[in-house]
Amino acid sequence: MSSENHIEKFKGRSALVTGGAAGIGWATACTLADAGADVAICSRPGKTLDGAAEKIANSKFPKISCFQADVSSDREMHGLFAELATKFGQLDFLVNNAGIDSFCDPADFSLAQFRHVMDVNVASVFLAVSEALPLMRKAKSASIVNVGSIHGHLTTSGRADYVTSKTALIGATRALALDLGGVGIRVNLVSPGAIETPMLVRGWEEKAPGIDINVLKERAGALHPCGRIGTPQDIANAILFLLGEEAGFITGADLLVDGGMHTKLAISSIWET
Ligand code: NAP
Repeated sequence: MSSENHIEKFKGRSALVTGGAAGIGWATACTLADAGADVAICSRPGKTLDGAAEKIANSKFPKISCFQADVSSDREMHGLFAELATKFGQLDFLVNNAGIDSFCDPADFSLAQFRHVMDVNVASVFLAVSEALPLMRKAKSASIVNVGSIHGHLTTSGRADYVTSKTALIGATRALALDLGGVGIRVNLVSPGAIETPMLVRGWEEKAPGIDINVLKERAGALHPCGRIGTPQDIANAILFLLGEEAGFITGADLLVDGGMHTKLAISSIWET
């Protein structure tokens, strides 16, 4: 959190960050709160949400409220937005961040797994937007940021379901930007590269058991033009930029925040090793 930046440019504004109890979502919620916004986060019940609630209760982040809601459940999302209507009365910012990682072997396709990934990573965005619209229409200048992935652009093997879901968000963002422009709501996508969060650490530990995470970080950093992998704060900064007035002429865009990783054509590895 950029605690030295105390220009409260989002004072009096309200925001929902889905999946806001950890990783990119938590950094975004803290940064929004730091900028003066009243922030709600939602997550499924469990240790992660309890941990966030504890930090909030210790009054380090008094402007953040915690809610239990699974973004893929229409019933739970409806209940969440009913609570937000009472709490905020309107909604200025929606950050559709909640998402799950997935690895899949095309030879062993599971329709149930595919549907689950699409429900959590894609359908959730439409559920949240439809529930948020009545509240966002009441705001002076509302804005939505969806969280995609570098995997919407380039990928590694064994990730077809995750890749399909994140690529879908590029189209979804464009379509929503067009459909909601008429009611003054901008919609953009941030596509993160490798960001050090619980999701990334879990995935890397699964792929490279026994290799120290710091060794993996160092190896990955060396592949990036920026010389390192990203932090949740790197993504939070991009999200705040797109939410705010400085981005007032930007809608339907997809901002890759990946330390330049997408510039590298893998073929170069045949002469760079
Ligand atoms: P993370 O560390 O796993 O945190 C994700 C948060 O979302 C957790 O709080 C999780 O809590 C919540 N969540 C998961 N499923 C949910 C559901 N069905 N309903 C409500 N909340 C749910 O993940 P992250 O790395 O911060 O990722 C955030 C977003 O960035 C995701 O969309 C991810 O695909 C994207 N992304 C991440 C990276 C990366 O390198 N980290 C790169 C590209 C894109 P519970 O599980 O307890 O509900």
